[in-house]
Amino acid sequence: MADRKFRMSGGGNPRGVSVRDSDPLQFFRELVEKRKKSNKRAVRLRLLPEKHEEEILFNIGLTSVRLWNELNYEKRQLFFKNDLKPEKRIEINRRYYHKYKNFLGVNAGQVINKNEEAWESFFELLKMKRQRRLPPHIRKISPPGYWKDKITGEKKIYMLIRNDRYYLEPINKGEGRLVLKDFKLSIRYVGRIKWEGKQGRLEIIYEAGRWFAYIPIEVGEKPSKSNPKGYIMPNYKDKKNRIVDPKSIKQRDPVGDKKAFIDIGLNNLFAVVVSDGSAFLVKGGSIKSEYYWWKREISTYQAVRDLLRNAGIHRWKDYHEKYLKALYKRDERLRHLYRTAIRFLAETLWSRGVMKIYIGYPIMLSQYNGNEYNNNIWWYRKIILWMIDVFIEYGIDVEIVPEDHTSIKCSICGEIHKNGRIYRGLYICRKTNKKINADINAALNIARRIGYKITTTRKIESYLISHNGVKSLIPRQRANTRDPEVRNPAL
Ligand SMILES: [Zn+2]
Repeated sequence: MADRKFRMSGGGNPRGVSVRDSDPLQFFRELVEKRKKSNKRAVRLRLLPEKHEEEILFNIGLTSVRLWNELNYEKRQLFFKNDLKPEKRIEINRRYYHKYKNFLGVNAGQVINKNEEAWESFFELLKMKRQRRLPPHIRKISPPGYWKDKITGEKKIYMLIRNDRYYLEPINKGEGRLVLKDFKLSIRYVGRIKWEGKQGRLEIIYEAGRWFAYIPIEVGEKPSKSNPKGYIMPNYKDKKNRIVDPKSIKQRDPVGDKKAFIDIGLNNLFAVVVSDGSAFLVKGGSIKSEYYWWKREISTYQAVRDLLRNAGIHRWKDYHEKYLKALYKRDERLRHLYRTAIRFLAETLWSRGVMKIYIGYPIMLSQYNGNEYNNNIWWYRKIILWMIDVFIEYGIDVEIVPEDHTSIKCSICGEIHKNGRIYRGLYICRKTNKKINADINAALNIARRIGYKITTTRKIESYLISHNGVKSLIPRQRANTRDPEVRNPAL
């Protein structure tokens, strides 16, 4: 995706993307290594509360948010007076725990813990700043903020439930009840659960008019004796039987020792080159145009919102709602598409005997356009972390490779042709006059960086990921390393 003009989703707060020392990817690499070893998986369930249950949920959510905001306000005041000492934090935490425990029970402690975690990581960043280790595009670090919508100032609806204060009661495949012990609630949920293990701190969030529960699972871990019900069981088995043992993240071993090199993008979600010389593209079909469609929608709502707001017209909030919904929809669509693509990619590479993949990570972009880069990289990191989660299931190792100039460098002669990228995803070598798919060119450059000089076979396979699944695109016989799109407009 390096150097490309489009911009992917926004809304994140990337931290520790790169530093200006010997290894620009140090922080992300650490995150990747941690993720590879992690036995944690998160389950997302949609909650479908009845009207009266929903009222209670709103109440718990707003109370939790009030707790966070009040507590955080005091800490911020002290911090700005240079007086936020550890013993003061303890005192504040204790006081608020007692203030809120009547209504929230021990769950008040979960909000307080989360707030402490936020302050801890803020202090960590401050320390890095003092030691001049701060990643270059973190320009401003600020103490933990309030739980509210930054534009309307309205509170978010969000709650945390301690790992032993809830449990799931499955009813049938993908459906059941979430029991919140402290609030005498039993709320219907729908959602697939693939893993089993010990449950962690539950988060319930109200987003774009929907309720979601997020449950972290320590896969394969037994529940503690004091909380035997705190154990999540799978409720779903996919037809292909990909999860054989829900107690283990690793499901298979590699069947060969090949390597694969992958460039991530929006047009071609994945451009892949395998060390045996084969190459293929995983395309997102209409995703790119859809992406731009949502982008237009979003910026229209944003513009109308700001206009009305500046004119003091109350209805601006409706447009803010619409804006948030559009953001959410776009991200959901992208998320679904990428996740389908990643699953397909892992399955395909595993069956072809790949044991390790190298994913390109754009570095160059960090030198300009901070905001856009941050938005891009936020999605990019998300995709890579999803990839790790899935590839680890297949026993395939993942490594991140810094990509600089990968999209303007020529994989054929090794030089940089500034005008190498021509039309419709084609790259032309100005020395040899050979043409190649631009994203395959980028993937070949990733291989080169690792020390593999691969000559791709002339045929490039193409697969199309849609919201209904994966389709193999059969290029015409004469299709070669050029993008099939160019040769066959019907695709
Ligand atoms: Zn060249």
